[in-house]
Amino acid sequence: MTAPDDAAPNSHHVLPGHEVVLLLETDAHRGLSDASARERLEQFGPNALPEPRGAGLLLRILRQFHHPLIYVLLVAGAVTAALHEYIDSAVIFGVVLVNAVVGLIQESRAEAALQGLRAMVHTDATVVRDGREQVVASDELVPGDLVRVEAGDKVPADMRLLRETELRVDESALTGESGSVSKDEIVLPETTPVADRRNMAYSGTLVTSGGGVGVVVATGAETEIGEIHRLVGAAEVLDTPLTAKLAWFSKILTVGILALAAATFAIGLLRRQDAVETFTAAIALAVGAIPEGLPAAVTITLAIGVSRMARRKAVIRRLPAVETLGSTTIICTDKTGTLTENQMTVREIWTPDTTVEVSGSGYTPDGEIRHRDGTPAPVQANAALRWSLLAGAACNDASLTYDDERWDIAGDPTEAAMLVVAAKTGLTTDHVGVRLPRVSTIPFSSERQYMATAHGSDIDDRVVLVKGAVERVLDLCESEMHADGSRGPIDRGAVLRAADALAADGLRVLATAMRSPAGDADLTEDGLRGTLTLTGLQAMLDPPRAAATSAVAACHSAGITVKMITGDHARTAESIAGSVGVLDRDHSDRQMVLTGAQLSALAPEEFADAVDAADVFARVSPEQKLRLVEALQGRGHIVAMTGDGVNDAPALRQASIGVAMGRGGTEVAKDAADMILTDDDFATIEAAVEEGRGVFDNLTKFITWTLPTNIGEGLVILVAIALGTALPILPTQILWINMTTAVALGLMLAFEPKEAGIMTRPPRDPRQPLLTRALVGRILLVSSLLVAGSWALFEWEQAHGATLTEARTAALNLFVVVEAFYLFSCRSLTHSAWRIGPFTNRWLVVGVAVQAIAQLAITYLPVMNTVFQTAPLDVGVWLRIVGIAVLASLVVAAEKSVWARRETSRVH
Ligand code: ATP
Repeated sequence: MTAPDDAAPNSHHVLPGHEVVLLLETDAHRGLSDASARERLEQFGPNALPEPRGAGLLLRILRQFHHPLIYVLLVAGAVTAALHEYIDSAVIFGVVLVNAVVGLIQESRAEAALQGLRAMVHTDATVVRDGREQVVASDELVPGDLVRVEAGDKVPADMRLLRETELRVDESALTGESGSVSKDEIVLPETTPVADRRNMAYSGTLVTSGGGVGVVVATGAETEIGEIHRLVGAAEVLDTPLTAKLAWFSKILTVGILALAAATFAIGLLRRQDAVETFTAAIALAVGAIPEGLPAAVTITLAIGVSRMARRKAVIRRLPAVETLGSTTIICTDKTGTLTENQMTVREIWTPDTTVEVSGSGYTPDGEIRHRDGTPAPVQANAALRWSLLAGAACNDASLTYDDERWDIAGDPTEAAMLVVAAKTGLTTDHVGVRLPRVSTIPFSSERQYMATAHGSDIDDRVVLVKGAVERVLDLCESEMHADGSRGPIDRGAVLRAADALAADGLRVLATAMRSPAGDADLTEDGLRGTLTLTGLQAMLDPPRAAATSAVAACHSAGITVKMITGDHARTAESIAGSVGVLDRDHSDRQMVLTGAQLSALAPEEFADAVDAADVFARVSPEQKLRLVEALQGRGHIVAMTGDGVNDAPALRQASIGVAMGRGGTEVAKDAADMILTDDDFATIEAAVEEGRGVFDNLTKFITWTLPTNIGEGLVILVAIALGTALPILPTQILWINMTTAVALGLMLAFEPKEAGIMTRPPRDPRQPLLTRALVGRILLVSSLLVAGSWALFEWEQAHGATLTEARTAALNLFVVVEAFYLFSCRSLTHSAWRIGPFTNRWLVVGVAVQAIAQLAITYLPVMNTVFQTAPLDVGVWLRIVGIAVLASLVVAAEKSVWARRETSRVH
């Protein structure tokens, strides 16, 4: 909604910033008061896009009828009515209706599952209220709020910019144009189109660099993106390459079957057979053979997979990722926060004269600094140590808080660890802030790998403090500091050896340096080079996550390679990789750790080989990540890649599955990703892969189960027509079988738990067809068993005195009972039904019970007898039905074990 506003809505770009502030009754520095923000929230409502309304109920119901099979049924229903077969006609129309309702329910459930995911990933915004900066959920923003954005953020509402520094925004979400545009605060002419309004930042666009402060002018549906949303009425897309392929497959099949049915009808007429009967046969053929439930079942199975993944903390943003996950061959993962806890504690500090150890754990600033022999190491006695601690505390954007008798941190854990160690010696941020106010900053970035700040109120006393990656900081240094405060020539070899030794223990090492007097107060990278004095190295412990080791091992046994890609030091990376099992120490013949520098020195033709062979990549820049993904994909790999920063977005987009961090990741990275980990944990990726494999298995199981019914029914009718005999099953009965078994039996396979060996087999080759030759063979076998069994029973019953109606009822029940038995076999594609425990999927048992009741009803209820032209059966018939079903199951079990044996001998 637009705020109290005399200007035309959406024209804040024509006013100077201070007028917009006045107009919105806010303050350019203090923002709104908490109370007025609350009032406005009441008045304007939450800053969220209205739920996509999607199509209306009527349209959705109508959409259920838009299906070739339904057209066939509608025509059949109409023709049957015209032929005065009113009961049949009513059954057909009834089925059409039931089908529509079931379709509607399934579709809504799948959509609800996907929509639920959105709520799991919410966005925060940094807002100034009552003069204090605070973080609020972005849907609490109101017009007039003062909002700060920085690189990596998603702009939370439409804002008129008041201040900015080198702000660049990617507006492709709004304008469709890729690349980022730069912003400033100047007033623009009224006619400036939205895409050129440089003094505005629009909701839903992404900040790629720089930062700025703006005043919110529109929220929720009133924003530009809200307008687009309203026009497009964005609905969830439930399509994936697989569903599209299957939909295409069933369409082609439908056309083929309809042609066959038409031919049947024509031949019947030519043979001068009864027109009604021939028509009925043609309809039966069409209805039986078209696998109408397939696309819906696939969507449902995918949706169930998505909710299972969400329960395991992996939120899928793009549905095709569910399929791709099961085929993943390589996972490229970050180190910090994904394989490790991202809970840093400084353990050792090296200075040119001595190394000290720090006690205490966590973020509580209690602990002591001692020499390695255990004697106390007073900070006053070592100037280099003092300066190192000062750099760690002052060149720092994190903060330590004490709340509810607990120490907590805000900001980067690496920086927090340096605050904690300084506080252990009495050097607190308040203290530093007063004595050494900061005057300028070069912020940390993953490319630069260091941070520099200039401090001091008095120009003569100014100091420059720097902290960052050892190699980078060394590049800037020209001297080192000794305990007595004197500066001497720097021994780079000794510094690098010390850093290596600390890193080899898995510690993250940051160098600290200073310059005093500060000289030029304007900090520039060039101005720093070769001017600093190295004061020390701080080494911090970041323990591996508890579940990381077992998750990496699980990936290895599933044939998935895990590669670590990190900005950290090579030795630290190597040590952590060794402890979680990423490094395979048995293959010491190849180079397993590569640094960014080594990567850039590689010739293009060597690149892919080297990247394929190495397991750990250290000091890698985000740009190199993109090349890594491309090289691995060039070798035919399906690559899942994690990332959290703005610059990781291209690599995340390129990866087969881009994985962003829900907690530590920027909005830009989340936007580029296919999947978001809500706990940032590597083990979650492994869990998602496992679920992805499960989804694929369940899809294959459903298809293997459902196709024989269609083929069997089609063949039974074809044979009857070819022989010119009575139909063993009538069209309405076929409709009954298809409708009831698809819902009561087939759908239950989607709830099938994952098979035991799911993570001990190699990844699925994405080029491999859904149905292997073995499965096609099994489908044909079961189809023939169904045809042979139902014909045999149909003929036998008639030969032994049964009426045509009774014989048909027997054939109908045989189809359903064989399918129910076969359902248990389909629970595993390789193992026998007994090996996985027949009752481990309770839904399946419920489904079979429901189906049994339905069969008893259609056989014995007089009204059903009339409607479906069935007749009660005596016990003998049931025994024969079950006998045939058992026999068929034994044949399938035998076939399965032959294949299983063949497969095993092929693998070994
Ligand atoms: P990963 O890619 O696994 O998350 P990382 O966190 O080490 O690893 P970056 O955040 O890019 O990757 O950091 C790269 C290097 O920059 C670190 O190894 C460290 O030496 C240095 N560094 C990290 N954070 C800071 C910081 N806040 N200030 C200064 N230097 C830092």
